[in-house]
Amino acid sequence: MAEYAASADAAAADLPHNGAVEPTASLPPSARLHLGLDLGGTNVKAAVLAGEGPDLQVLETLHAPTSRDGSRAVVEGMIELGRQAIARTGPVATIGVGVPGVYERETGIVRFLTNVPGDWDGVQVGGPIGRALGAPVDMVNDARAFALAESRLGAGRDADTMVGVTLGTGMGGGIVIAGRLHEGLAGSAGEIGHVVVDPAGPPCGCGSNGCAEAYVSARAFAESAGRDDPGEVFVAAAAGDRDALAAVDRFAGYLGLALGSVVVTLAPDRIVVGGGVAQAGELLFGPLRAAVRARVRNLVPVDRIAIVPAELGPNAGAIGAALRGLDALPS
Ligand SMILES: [Zn+2]
Repeated sequence: MAEYAASADAAAADLPHNGAVEPTASLPPSARLHLGLDLGGTNVKAAVLAGEGPDLQVLETLHAPTSRDGSRAVVEGMIELGRQAIARTGPVATIGVGVPGVYERETGIVRFLTNVPGDWDGVQVGGPIGRALGAPVDMVNDARAFALAESRLGAGRDADTMVGVTLGTGMGGGIVIAGRLHEGLAGSAGEIGHVVVDPAGPPCGCGSNGCAEAYVSARAFAESAGRDDPGEVFVAAAAGDRDALAAVDRFAGYLGLALGSVVVTLAPDRIVVGGGVAQAGELLFGPLRAAVRARVRNLVPVDRIAIVPAELGPNAGAIGAALRGLDALPS
């Protein structure tokens, strides 16, 4: 590990990095470091965490474009970004890898990824990364990683039961109960984007039809208002455009329908909404709270559910992946 720190220094010097926090004097020299790698269709992101419990801090974040040259090149790119992160911070005790799809946790093999170029069925991801970077690897779904990160360091702090949803190309989700990710069978708990909101709706890639994802993806939302991207819809809605306001209401209605099903199942005290649309603020969150309330008001104490925007921004997935590695350490 030490040789990476020496040799990768020069390469790491001019990498784009953001949100990095200078190591503080309070960090004990014995604090273990934890690397998270988040594989996305556009970028690979890395985060290094230090410490544990209330002293946990984000030491470094880095990102690089996802290779377009197939799965092997993508994994090589993740290894390289990991090396550069380690060069900046020092050797890591654990590595967590977040992937946007289905994987086998025991073997580190990927089965199916959404929106990442290349053929992924059966590709070894965890093994090569662990061997190259010299630390044990654990895997996690990227939306689960988002939820874990927000629960520990973001908008879900101090929640008892937190549901996280992230809205973008699709709709991902994760459930954190008493600080621990609720995984269910094969890590599949939290697929909130596939709660059915219209049994007569369009077919979904998951094999069902009328899934929430088809109604609340960034593209579906923009198209429903005749705009190119969600930001335009919110700008128009803020200016009082009636079509845009109606599109926001429909969007909030479908999202509220999916979240209402989750609320009556889990009765969470916090729902954290991430992704680009979460930046719309009250323009979205007002109608969304009303939509959830309309579904569940007689069943759960809806006034005690905080529905709030995510806080950690685009690095949440990498931070959550690092937490996955940290959590896998025997305590
Ligand atoms: Zn579906």
